[in-house]
Amino acid sequence: MNELEILVVDDSESIRQFMREILRQLNTRITEATDGIEAFKLIANNVYDLIFMDIAMPGKSGFDVIERVRNKLGYKYTPIIVMTGLDQPNLIKKAFDIGASDYITKPLSEIEFISRLKTRLENRRLNRALNDANRAKSEFISRLAHELKTPLNAIAGFAEIIELEPTNTEKVLKSCKIIKDASTHQESLINEVTNLANIEAGIIDIKLADVDFSKIIRDVFNLTEPMANKSNVKLNLPRLNEVKFTLKTDAKRLKQILINLITNAIKYNKPGGKVDFVIDQLKPEYLKVSIKDTGNGIDRKDIEKIFEPFNRLGAEKTKIEGTGIGLPITKKIIEIMGGELKVESKVGEGSIFCFTLPL
Ligand code: ADP
Repeated sequence: MNELEILVVDDSESIRQFMREILRQLNTRITEATDGIEAFKLIANNVYDLIFMDIAMPGKSGFDVIERVRNKLGYKYTPIIVMTGLDQPNLIKKAFDIGASDYITKPLSEIEFISRLKTRLENRRLNRALNDANRAKSEFISRLAHELKTPLNAIAGFAEIIELEPTNTEKVLKSCKIIKDASTHQESLINEVTNLANIEAGIIDIKLADVDFSKIIRDVFNLTEPMANKSNVKLNLPRLNEVKFTLKTDAKRLKQILINLITNAIKYNKPGGKVDFVIDQLKPEYLKVSIKDTGNGIDRKDIEKIFEPFNRLGAEKTKIEGTGIGLPITKKIIEIMGGELKVESKVGEGSIFCFTLPL
């Protein structure tokens, strides 16, 4: 396995030398920076498994660097351990508040340093192993998906050819339709499993850009309204004037989330029912989006199950089309985008799926 990469940021040569010696013994690669500006540049351009950073340095302080790493670069999970003096509890609290992962106090004790380090490195190694395994799984599934689709295309293609025969009986035409529907269903299953495996392996591109939210709402409405009309369900749009409309988000992913929740709210509704799509701006930096339906609702004991891949809670025995993977994917994408998905439901009355979205 590759060596772990560690960044040490301290203006004191003696501290860096102390850490250098210990880190080398632990089979890690070490990069050193002497101030905050150099550290920030290194972090912006390289991937580190662990960062040790002095809090009080000349020029840019450690606080400044942590704040920028977490907020400007969006690196939420890079472990940053700050080094402070023993008599500085306020600094430690402040460091945690802005996103430090842990602290050690100076003067550094070799035993304390090594034991804290060992647990962190072990976690990091396990994490990497898990990521590698997820990537291997995702590659395998992509290849498998390709192999499964080739015969499937032949099956659907031949059903279409047979369908064109002028001498076909009703029975043959009906069988062709069953073959074609089953092929389409299987193709969506294959696509969604690949999608889910990619997301689990962290292969998902989130592109943040300034997005006009009213345009997204309009697009989503245009795509879902025909289905609502067909199911005799009224789709109510959000009141647009209540929300600030330029968001920094990923337009494609946000649409994917909304379409999934709204189509579910339509599919699992009743004829004559409605879907309310409501947006609240909780704080300047948070938005809450709720999709409320008047369907049959979900039993409390089943709520967790709807996020299990392929669990359709019995909907597979009905005419309602689906794969059972939409919600697990939607939940993961929301979490990757820094939000949270919650469900409230009452059997017989309906459900509310709501998610937060950091702006
Ligand atoms: P599917 O492709 O089956 O719609 P999802 O992953 O989107 O898959 O949802 C999983 C299951 O959760 C559905 O099969 C359905 O049983 C249940 N479900 C999802 N949304 C709703 C809803 N709005 N009302 C009632 N049940 C729902």
